[in-house]
Amino acid sequence: MNERNEAAVGERVRHEVDVVVVGAGPSGLAAAIALRQAGVARVEVLERESAAGGIPRHCAHTGYGVRDLRRVMSGPRYARHYAQAARAAGVELSTTAMVTGWSADGGLEVSSPAGLRTVHASAVLLATGARERGRAARWVPGDRGEGVYTTGQLQQEVYLRGQQVGSRALVVGAEHVSFSAVTTLRHAGVEVVGLTTELPQHQSYAVFNFATRMLYKTPLLTGTRVVELRGRPRLTHAVLMRLSDGRQLTVPCDTIVFTGDWIPDHELARTAGLQMDPATLGPTIDATGSTSRPGIFAAGNLCHPVETADVAALGGRHVGGVIARWLADRSSQVAGAGVPIEVGEALAWVSPQRIGSTAELPARGRLILRPRVFATLPWIRVNQGERVLWQRQVPKLIPSRPTLLPATWLARVDPHGPAVRIEVLV
Ligand SMILES: Cc1cc2nc3c(=O)[nH]c(=O)nc-3n(C[C@H](O)[C@H](O)[C@H](O)COP(=O)(O)OP(=O)(O)OC[C@H]3O[C@@H](n4cnc5c(N)ncnc54)[C@H](O)[C@@H]3O)c2cc1C
Repeated sequence: MNERNEAAVGERVRHEVDVVVVGAGPSGLAAAIALRQAGVARVEVLERESAAGGIPRHCAHTGYGVRDLRRVMSGPRYARHYAQAARAAGVELSTTAMVTGWSADGGLEVSSPAGLRTVHASAVLLATGARERGRAARWVPGDRGEGVYTTGQLQQEVYLRGQQVGSRALVVGAEHVSFSAVTTLRHAGVEVVGLTTELPQHQSYAVFNFATRMLYKTPLLTGTRVVELRGRPRLTHAVLMRLSDGRQLTVPCDTIVFTGDWIPDHELARTAGLQMDPATLGPTIDATGSTSRPGIFAAGNLCHPVETADVAALGGRHVGGVIARWLADRSSQVAGAGVPIEVGEALAWVSPQRIGSTAELPARGRLILRPRVFATLPWIRVNQGERVLWQRQVPKLIPSRPTLLPATWLARVDPHGPAVRIEVLV
């Protein structure tokens, strides 16, 4: 028996393991499995929810597992797959176990219905994921009526709790997750009156947009911002403003779903005093997932808000392997050191943001870029000072979608040279 529901455990003040993983989403579970497969004896995963699996647990639609498992499955099935594989690999899974902070001697403070305990480990992997910014964080003024969700909250209500969520919904955002919200709303019998985005076009696959228009007759309102919510005790209207001329449009709806606009769950990284990346808002990492503190690693959407689950899982698997090597040879980690990677204005962020060792490739041998702009056939160029390390034309850039950069140029980086800079030449 290697699963522990904290509610069923008696008082236990101090627990020692080799590696503790915070977060039982795809990245944390894949890392824990890799650690056990590499022979690390005691690996514990701490998860605040009552079951392991992370976000896919409440995404009932299909589309999970393509790159990591080489098959397509629904979110809950994918989550079960990883939870079962972790158990089978001998990972200790502790659910209903919220990590609330760090103890003075470097342990993790864990709160659960059974009480408080501290977990000490040689290495800590932060795999706490990311969440969507809600209405307050997006500074949308107006009445505080009911019927306001993020996609995550919506899917928990619909798929995990079977709740009725309203009858007419507006979806804020037009990226992959926004279309996932439309699917959930339709599944719950809710009419979707529109998707609204501040950008000039949607940022998902054309087929999702086409299907939403054809099947559900849902219009896409581009170049518009939600400026007010009206209605109490329940939402009755959303007020949109057209960004081009300031004209306002009142949309009757009793439900609004704020989608995308991700922020990493970075509280533990921040309170550990890790160097943070001002662009992703996650910890700064190198290709091995090393943060600025020895023995603390990070993986998954905490580091790249957000990628798909298979990318998070492959990243976790990669960092799990790194940690196993580090346990055997602690000189192999270059925490905080190395050459920084910067991005030009057309790019929002890059992950990883530091080259610790030019011999270490990132997960899948690629860096992940996030564009700020739409562009067709732009050039991407990587420089270190005056030296061009790499350049290539890419098919297109789309905000909210990844652009992958092969890491073949890493070996040419001068470890004593200036920052590496990635630019888009449109
Ligand atoms: C609506 C929606 C639809 C999606 N659809 C798809 C899709 O079709 N295909 C696809 O591949 N991907 C999809 N994704 C993306 C995918 O779910 C994520 O990429 C993936 O879950 C990221 O894995 P992760 O391990 O980094 O983070 P998460 O899955 O977010 O897991 C992080 C875990 O950490 C736990 N945690 C956080 N803080 C603490 C703490 N202090 N103590 C204890 N536990 C903590 C959380 O409870 C959570 O379980 C979708 C995402 C959303 C929101």
